[in-house]
Amino acid sequence: MRLPVYLDYAATTPVDPRIAALLGRHLTLDGVFGNPSSATHVFGRQAARVVETARCQVAGLLNADPREIIWTSGATEANNLALTGVMRAQARRGRHLLTSKTEHKAVLDVCRWLGQNGCIVTYLDPDPDGQIPLERIAEALRPDTVLASLMHVNNETGVIHDLAAISALTRERGVLLHVDAAQSAGKLPIDLQTLPVDLLSLSAHKLCGPKGIGALYVRQRPVRIRLEPLLYGGGQERGLRAGTLPTHQIAAMGEAFRIASEEMGAEQAQIRSLRDRLWQTLAGLDRVELNGHPRENVAGILNVSFTGVTAEAVLADLPDIAVSTGSACTSATNEPSHVLRAMGVDSLRARAAIRFSLGRFTTVEEIDYTAGAVIAAVNRLRELSPLWEDIQQGSESGQSATPKANEKRHISVPSS
Ligand SMILES: *Cc1c(COP(=O)(O)O)cnc(C)c1O
Repeated sequence: MRLPVYLDYAATTPVDPRIAALLGRHLTLDGVFGNPSSATHVFGRQAARVVETARCQVAGLLNADPREIIWTSGATEANNLALTGVMRAQARRGRHLLTSKTEHKAVLDVCRWLGQNGCIVTYLDPDPDGQIPLERIAEALRPDTVLASLMHVNNETGVIHDLAAISALTRERGVLLHVDAAQSAGKLPIDLQTLPVDLLSLSAHKLCGPKGIGALYVRQRPVRIRLEPLLYGGGQERGLRAGTLPTHQIAAMGEAFRIASEEMGAEQAQIRSLRDRLWQTLAGLDRVELNGHPRENVAGILNVSFTGVTAEAVLADLPDIAVSTGSACTSATNEPSHVLRAMGVDSLRARAAIRFSLGRFTTVEEIDYTAGAVIAAVNRLRELSPLWEDIQQGSESGQSATPKANEKRHISVPSS
């Protein structure tokens, strides 16, 4: 077993060796390195063919039309393009935008900017299990609502939102729907022929592809969604995203999506069984709490709080295990997770939360090693913790400091 163990697949994934090999073949003189816009020679035309094949592969996984895929530098740019693009192009329809407090910062920070620049933004609260109730969305829609932006799978908790129900509602009410699918594409089935989603953000590096490439799906039928671009220049991507297309990155993203369409079912079942094994072992500890939804969750993410210790202390005790406290993007700020806080998780429990995220190359040995090491670390730290002593005394006298501890012991497999 290789140490340290990598269990931070929700932050980024290692590139699949099949994809790394393909990347290399699109860089050098003896490979396909041309500028896809160079229509005057074979180098450019070959590169353009590679780009269009990849576009079909990405569209294929989502049952979309290839013309609906716009290449970007990642899901962050796709989110920026979707939100500012729609709100600027469609300002005459209204200024109201709806989102939730558990979105990724790549949506929330764009919403904040829009809010400072003439838009009105409503941030919905989730339920304690992380989902946004449909009635809450319905009540927040206004006559001047142009767009709703709600993620498919949450990157910190793995909670799955009911896209079918949400998109049916927004379509019925004549509101556009943008979905950040960075954590769900290639992990859950997404069929854009049946789901009335209008815009959807994608990233390659959450799916064993390289960092720095992603895409925005923009619905063309029955109506073409109007967007204002972020970048102006050479007119690539139907004028929606200027800049020379990175042939190697695009080929790699296409391959990541092709592999996912073939292997998703078996791979997710395997990852889920490893995740459940990890949870069942960790749940043997006293006072372990699951953060998220007990059933509606993606296979690869497990977010748990160990009462009486801080996540930082556990991580510092486990240099051989790469996990995360909340999301990588916010762990620099040392704030407790905005996602867990929005779900009503108290600050102590939020500071005790650790996200384990598993992926394609996770092994059973790694899971067993991790479970053993985490249990040992938590027990060691609890011995030293005056807080833990108080909590235990509280529960001995019948006044549990955390009354909900140990309620959610099992994650069950969603019916879908
Ligand atoms: C990783 C992630 C992003 C950012 O994607 P990049 O391709 O790194 O820009 C956005 N949203 C979610 C939910 C993510 O998990």
